[in-house]
Amino acid sequence: MTSLLVLASVVLVALACLLRVYAKLPAVDLGPFGRMLYVDTGQRASDLLVSERYHLMGGPDYILEEQGEKIPVERKPRMLNHSGPLESERLQLAACCLLVEEREGRTVHHGRLQYQNCSLDVPFDDALRRKLLATLAAIQACADVPDVRRSHPSPSRCHGCDFRAHCTESLAR
Ligand code: SF4
Repeated sequence: MTSLLVLASVVLVALACLLRVYAKLPAVDLGPFGRMLYVDTGQRASDLLVSERYHLMGGPDYILEEQGEKIPVERKPRMLNHSGPLESERLQLAACCLLVEEREGRTVHHGRLQYQNCSLDVPFDDALRRKLLATLAAIQACADVPDVRRSHPSPSRCHGCDFRAHCTESLAR
């Protein structure tokens, strides 16, 4: 578990924004919806977005450009219901906004969550930015802790976790 925590200090485990791979593609014209600049193909680790400042790496599924603004897009394999986006989905998207900001040197104003039944724009505002930075700080504070126990009883979370193969507490079977 210790090695997992060390790894978690440089990548954002809790946000599942990990080990995503960008392949730079020619810009694709999406008509009134803008241009697709990048797509995550899962093939080129060298194209990961990396922030030394925030000890963060990863990337969204897509980056769109609309009216001159870069918009990170995360696809979700579920329907959005009346409860709205999960906090983890908002934080994951926020991490992607931060990474795009770091790379571009320009403010990212919002990201987009793309569900099976709709898309939702999420403002990357001060409140979400503060929550993200607090989450990153909490993860990094765990880096030197010798052991941390699993904090949930959910096998499905472990099934969706990128670190289940290295985790001694995984419930994924
Ligand atoms: S496999 Fe499960 S317990 Fe282990 S880090 Fe992932 S979510 Fe947490």
